[in-house]
Amino acid sequence: MLVKNQLLSLKAYEPGKSVEEIKKDYGLAKITKLNSNENPYGSSPKAAEALANLSSQFAIYPDGGAMNLRAKVASHLDVDEDQIIFGAGLDEVIQIISRALLTPDSNTVMASPTFSQYKLHAVIEGAEIREIATVDGCHDLNTMLSQIDSQTRIVWICNPNNPTGTYVNETALKNFISRVPKETLVVIDEAYYEYVTAEDFPHSLSLLKDFDNVMVLRTFSKAYGLAGLRVGYGVGNKEFIQRLEVTRLPFNTSRLAQIAAEAALEDQDFIQGCVKINEKGLNELQAFCKRHKIDFYPSQANFIFIKTDKGHELYESLLQKGYIVRLFPNGIRITIGTEEENKNLLADFEDIIVKAGTPN
Ligand SMILES: *Cc1c(COP(=O)(O)O)cnc(C)c1O
Repeated sequence: MLVKNQLLSLKAYEPGKSVEEIKKDYGLAKITKLNSNENPYGSSPKAAEALANLSSQFAIYPDGGAMNLRAKVASHLDVDEDQIIFGAGLDEVIQIISRALLTPDSNTVMASPTFSQYKLHAVIEGAEIREIATVDGCHDLNTMLSQIDSQTRIVWICNPNNPTGTYVNETALKNFISRVPKETLVVIDEAYYEYVTAEDFPHSLSLLKDFDNVMVLRTFSKAYGLAGLRVGYGVGNKEFIQRLEVTRLPFNTSRLAQIAAEAALEDQDFIQGCVKINEKGLNELQAFCKRHKIDFYPSQANFIFIKTDKGHELYESLLQKGYIVRLFPNGIRITIGTEEENKNLLADFEDIIVKAGTPN
């Protein structure tokens, strides 16, 4: 079969070893999963309650427009209902945007490292990719601007950035957007928005009033703890969103996902509680790194990136103690766990440092 040429350079997403496999291979009784930025406290109990009696509806297609969820999200964000597009996770919204905008004669600008899916879809669409190295883990906005030309369809700002955890502040973001041509879409991926505590973090939704070429992405997978149900969304200019809707599959979000997301959104106390505990855990981990002179990027998310050339060794040492983290070419990313998981992690990390030295 002759597939698109650009697929030949790609590999299908490889799920890592399962927790069960790792337990077996390493002879571990317990595994703490700190590799996917999931909410260690799960989701609001209200989400589970809302799903309890849905089995009679499994045979019925969901509401393709997700109208009830749409109304709740619109009111929560104070935007119009027709400014929102839903996806089976934010991953799908990223795919929809890429499919709708990118062509082989266009290009797209993004940071490196950043969230992997922006690049993947650009490759599939055959677009040129302009990756701009981060500086101290931060988007280099000036260099990104200098790479935008008349063929640039999308510029991606991951805020806070995955995997570095750093953020672009309000002034810098506004200044950047005001200098991007109005034909180029600026996508602001705020998958970790709920966790942010910095006071100068952008009020990105208010930018939508002034800029038709801005789109803001959010998800129910991270702080809301619904990664297994797949629902995320983008907010933007009405006319633009209606164009994107053409490329969305009619029943992309399931009934279960919609109903759980509605219930989770209503339970803001749960989110606030998780955010507080995350902040504490993040502070403890950052203080630990400072104390041990471990190089890290200051984070506004529910993870921290440790810069090290000994990532592989550190990854293995942590795995032997029962922690799965995420390995990158120049370091590791650790998700903030529960209070107890974090306490145990710091004790075990200390032990690793005593035996093997500081991972720099
Ligand atoms: C996790 C993540 C997403 C995708 O999340 P979904 O589970 O598909 O909603 C998108 N962007 C960033 C930056 C992420 O970290």
